[in-house]
Amino acid sequence: MRLSPVLRAGALVATLALAVTACGGKSQQAAGGSDSLVDRAKADNKLTVGIKFDQPGLGLKTGDGYTGFDVDVAKYIAKKLGVDEKNIVFKQAPSAQREDLIAQGDVDLVIATYTINDKRKQKVSFAGPYFVAGQDLLVKTENTDITGPETLNGKKLCSVTGSTSAQNIQTKFANKVALQQYGGYSECVTGLLNGAIDALSTDDIILQGYANADANKGKLKVVGKPFSNEPYGIGLKKGDTKTQQALDGYIQEMEKDGSWSAALKKNFGDSYKVPAEPPITEK
Ligand code: GLU
Repeated sequence: MRLSPVLRAGALVATLALAVTACGGKSQQAAGGSDSLVDRAKADNKLTVGIKFDQPGLGLKTGDGYTGFDVDVAKYIAKKLGVDEKNIVFKQAPSAQREDLIAQGDVDLVIATYTINDKRKQKVSFAGPYFVAGQDLLVKTENTDITGPETLNGKKLCSVTGSTSAQNIQTKFANKVALQQYGGYSECVTGLLNGAIDALSTDDIILQGYANADANKGKLKVVGKPFSNEPYGIGLKKGDTKTQQALDGYIQEMEKDGSWSAALKKNFGDSYKVPAEPPITEK
């Protein structure tokens, strides 16, 4: 096949582009050479976000669809980054895998009830916080003896590997409770419902999501005595300051234009008492 000089030049560019993509692998560069996500996302019109798949109200996969507050935050951020909603790829990000998923480039962002702390900051950077939760307890509705963290002596607790929730239980109640750790909170809910454990402990908003779920209606209650501070951040590649700053701005916009409270309302109704002041002001 004979190509005109213009077509030949085009074919060469296309081949080079393919070669660059192939070599770029997980650390692709946007046109112009920046490897910051803000530049890359817009150029590629693609964003890969790690979320939870089993936390109703926050990150839930049902069939091919994704719902929850974290999903709504992801959609808002994607739009600001210039990425079409249909081009967001959601990947499951279990608590224990979040840092690695980001560090290895398997996801661009993690928006998954992800507490900002110094230990995690050694491996990833965070934008936010975009929400502040507190660790609490979920028990069966008929339970009367677990009324707060001071009533946990001898109880069987459940939480998730790699979470601050499990860590806090171990440091605060080490010798008092038997802690069972699973890969996801929905497994703890199963254990709670069938009587294998006495309480599930993690962030109050996560627990409220389980209590609200249709399948659990009337069966579970949140104790309502939070005993930690869990500022949720958006995890991103360590050192991508340009993206971190951009995302901080987008979170602020989401809070100011009403989308933040609308998303919480949509996913939790009146079941969760949202603080009057959005958290970004804490920075
Ligand atoms: N926010 C806590 C954490 O990041 C608990 C919730 C979770 O495991 O996602 O570890």
